[in-house]
Amino acid sequence: MLFSDYSDNKPIISFEIFPPKTEKGFDNLQFELSLLSTLAPDFITVTYGAMGTTRERTLDIASLIQNHFGIESACHLTCVGATKKELDSMLQKIYDAGVRNIVALRGDPPEGESNFIPPEDGFAYGNQLVEHIRNFEKSIGKQNHFGVAVAGYPEKHIEASEFDMDLANLKRKVDAGADVIFTQLFFNNDYYFDFVRKVREIGITVPVVPGIMPILSAKQIKRITSMCGTTIPDALREKLDTAADDDNKARDIGIEQCIEQSRELLSSGVPGIHFYVLNKSTHMIRIMEALSGDLQKLR
Ligand code: FAD
Repeated sequence: MLFSDYSDNKPIISFEIFPPKTEKGFDNLQFELSLLSTLAPDFITVTYGAMGTTRERTLDIASLIQNHFGIESACHLTCVGATKKELDSMLQKIYDAGVRNIVALRGDPPEGESNFIPPEDGFAYGNQLVEHIRNFEKSIGKQNHFGVAVAGYPEKHIEASEFDMDLANLKRKVDAGADVIFTQLFFNNDYYFDFVRKVREIGITVPVVPGIMPILSAKQIKRITSMCGTTIPDALREKLDTAADDDNKARDIGIEQCIEQSRELLSSGVPGIHFYVLNKSTHMIRIMEALSGDLQKLR
């Protein structure tokens, strides 16, 4: 199954995980994956680290998901610190491993740097990476071999000064050959509905899949949202404040929030939901159980 196979007929469920930094983390992830796989997501995508060792793990984990757990996987790939040649070598490895889907991103500036500095003989923007992937396919005689997803920002990308400019840049990624857009996390569905309307107005026709992050800890979600520019609505923030350092309580609040958001999105006819599962399964089991009736009706 490819990212190009989204259709209006049934919502596609995907999970996003990240490669752990340690061996123990890797063992834990394998255990969590054994539980997450029982929820039968259509895809599991694996993020690509800023730099350093976890990068090599992205493809290893994506292969494991595909070959051991039998679930379609995707490698995220970024422009950070990579020349075109290095990107080609990574694309060849992804191709050789039989992974058919790529989430193509520019990536964030490395820690301590505020601006993204494109690597010499590398790329400055996501649309260039998408174009490069499509050219790579042509060079090996396998046109449209990969399903390609890109990121979209319902509350605007944090570096963009104007929403319209950001949308125009999103269109560049689609025009370069992206099959689907996964959104940044949001906690108010109105941002998503407005975003889809604006995206359609400028002629983007590919599916726009909402990205939802179930909260696991109050501190963690405040840190993540401050980095990516997602708004925590006042009512949710007040609830999270009552959880303070109690992660079990924060997780319960997050599960309730996630189920509520997902139900509304599913009933509005979204093409799928991309859950940022943060490498844990307990909350996802509760969420998917709660949504099973909603999904059954739609599938
Ligand atoms: P771009 O689309 O290149 O946009 C970056 C900024 O440049 C935007 O402000 C845009 O408006 C502007 N811009 C874009 N194109 C042009 C152009 N041609 N000319 C002028 N301005 C332009 N990060 C990781 O490091 N690893 C991951 O695995 C990862 N996975 C992610 C998955 C999802 C679903 C999402 C939503 C984000 C993910 N990120 C990941 C974070 C992402 O790398 C950052 O948000 C990054 O800052 C932007 O990446 P992008 O591909 O959206 O960039």
